[in-house]
Amino acid sequence: MADALHPHAWRIIEQLQVPIMTLDMAGYLTSWNQGAQHLFGYTPQEAIGQHVLFLYADDAGDTQTPTPELWPERGNAVMEVWRRKKNGENFKAALVLSVLHDDHNQPLALVAQMTEITQTLEPHDRQKLHSSIIEDSDQGILITDINERIVSVNAAFSYITGYSSQEAVGQTTDLLRSGEHNADFRAKVLAAMHGSGPWQGEIIGKRKNGELFPQSVSISVVRNDAGRVTHAFSVFSDISVLRDTEARMQRLANFDNITGLPNRGHFHQLVDQGLASARRNNHIGAVLTVDLQRFDDVNETFGHEIGEELLRQVAERFGQTLREEDVLARVAASEFVVALLNVQKREHSGIVAQKLLATLKPGFTIDSMVLHVGANIGISVFPEDGTDTVTLMQFADVAVKRLKAEGDSGYLFYSPEMNQRAKERWHLEDELRQALKSRHLLLHYQPKVSLRTGRIVGAEALIRWQHPEKGMISPGFFIPIAEETGLILEIGDWVLEESCRQIRAWKDSGLQVPVVSVNLSARQFDRQLPTRIQAVLGRYDLPASCLQLEITESLLVRGTDGVVQIMNDLVATGVSLSMDDFGTGYSSLAYLKKFPLTVLKIDRAFVIGIPHDDNDCAIARAIVTMAQQLRQEIVAEGVETRAQMHFLRDLGCDQLQGYLFSPAVPASALAHMLRTHVRLSLL
Ligand code: C2E
Ligand code: MG
Ligand code: MG
Repeated sequence: MADALHPHAWRIIEQLQVPIMTLDMAGYLTSWNQGAQHLFGYTPQEAIGQHVLFLYADDAGDTQTPTPELWPERGNAVMEVWRRKKNGENFKAALVLSVLHDDHNQPLALVAQMTEITQTLEPHDRQKLHSSIIEDSDQGILITDINERIVSVNAAFSYITGYSSQEAVGQTTDLLRSGEHNADFRAKVLAAMHGSGPWQGEIIGKRKNGELFPQSVSISVVRNDAGRVTHAFSVFSDISVLRDTEARMQRLANFDNITGLPNRGHFHQLVDQGLASARRNNHIGAVLTVDLQRFDDVNETFGHEIGEELLRQVAERFGQTLREEDVLARVAASEFVVALLNVQKREHSGIVAQKLLATLKPGFTIDSMVLHVGANIGISVFPEDGTDTVTLMQFADVAVKRLKAEGDSGYLFYSPEMNQRAKERWHLEDELRQALKSRHLLLHYQPKVSLRTGRIVGAEALIRWQHPEKGMISPGFFIPIAEETGLILEIGDWVLEESCRQIRAWKDSGLQVPVVSVNLSARQFDRQLPTRIQAVLGRYDLPASCLQLEITESLLVRGTDGVVQIMNDLVATGVSLSMDDFGTGYSSLAYLKKFPLTVLKIDRAFVIGIPHDDNDCAIARAIVTMAQQLRQEIVAEGVETRAQMHFLRDLGCDQLQGYLFSPAVPASALAHMLRTHVRLSLL
């Protein structure tokens, strides 16, 4: 018998203290566990192979061999029997017999479980004991007569159902009927109450206050000496708490607790199902990754509570825009994803994307503030781009990343060529890490000249990547990747260190070194920045005045107090701040007053059109006028022609940086220019 069971299962049974034995269909013992050994005193060696009769008490009334007719067809047979121990002692035992069937439903073996019934109590005491056990049980107990009328209930019954004993006794069990079960199910329960065999299961009951509750119930019957059923008793526990916890866990596992939307895992489940039916019906589907812009800024500036409220409101607006059958989920801090499972044409998913973007247009009012957020949406189409949820989500992500990388906003459909690029970017990121380690990064310096004297008055450190195979790679290409991956922090530190090292080396060689400016990424701008800068300067024994930091408008737009504070701290250490690429971002001129800037660099985009493009000229003029009022120095970037130089000088620009004078050059070349006092002719 033991070998018919899974080896683990038998090992467990073997060690149980509940006496369990198995018999073959002829009544010979085939296994014998520790509990059986303990009860009877026979070892497995002594017992196995014996006929079960050797355990029978001499005067037991049931000495006949168990015959198949007596065996329960299904479930258990419960009976009281007399047995004899090895030491000769007879005892009464409760025997539970069950038949094990093979795969073809043929009876295979009998499993017998036996419990000794100790009868040392006087009948009166026993009754008292039993009733107090029943009364004190924390399971509800209900005893009914043969007509299903309740004859007794315990305290837990009243506690769980709300009915007192007086209210319950005399009623039928319909008192607790919830109406949740069909006739078939009720017939089974009733059959158990009339002695068809013990029944165990879950029933939905109804409390006195009308509330439905799930209960785990076992029903058995009491028989008189003649074997007639006289009573039935149900033992039940209220498992609604369990159910609530289960439901809560279910929610936690499947839903985002801020917006209540499905989370990533659940989205997968839902969309897997949806795609299966889309496939059957030849429908087109789409997955849209919606990435909220500037959400981190909101969190940072206004705190997480406001951020969470914003997410809730966004989720609500999206929900209202989408159809019932669309799936909306929140899968990352600022990322939602939408699955459209039945669209006519791929283009229609673009219309949905437009609608989603449009819902964000009106600001979000939170705490009497109005916040504006935008989003980027990447779209992948089923079955064109992919046929499973994972691929579709991945490709929608690729599209959204592409939008971000290009600095665009709006929505974009995935194309295979993008994936190629995304892969290249991964590769590039890896190479960039290597480059940082193996010193393939270097700094070139582009001189800035005074428009009054023509002399070099500054230099901008510009990073270069000398790739062993691909040659020189433009920072315009790899800096955005470094920003996205966070690698910019290490690179930025290296740039600061390297430029200070260079200034020191120049000084040590007796050179008059003009102020060197270094570009900073917004990501480098944290509270520790001033301390880090002072530390680098200290390492090379340099005054702060030899360093200028170029920052971009994106930092100002973040406009938090934190940023202004850090800027003030920086200026307090003695370094100066320069606003790079001015005019390309969002900040208004008036806005600039708030920030302690020394230098304003007019972006090359406006310099290009000078002096022919009226618009560019007007913008340059406005910038210069404003900067003069703010007493900021003005540097024109990317000046390539003398005409540009004349115009800018006449406007009142202070300095010029551009190919007209020199591109960025290696450190040694700049040293040479300084030493030989090269000058720009202002004629
Ligand atoms: P940027 O800070 O605005 O630097 C000026 C860019 O314009 C440089 O490009 C420079 O070589 C180019 N340029 C200067 N004069 C002329 C000109 O007359 N004509 C034209 N067509 N271009 C001119 P580069 O070196 O490719 O750098 C591009 C951008 O990469 C920089 O723009 C800056 O934003 C970023 N970058 C460079 N080095 C670093 C760095 O060390 N850290 C960070 N965070 N960013 C850097
Ligand atoms: Mg710059
Ligand atoms: Mg610039």
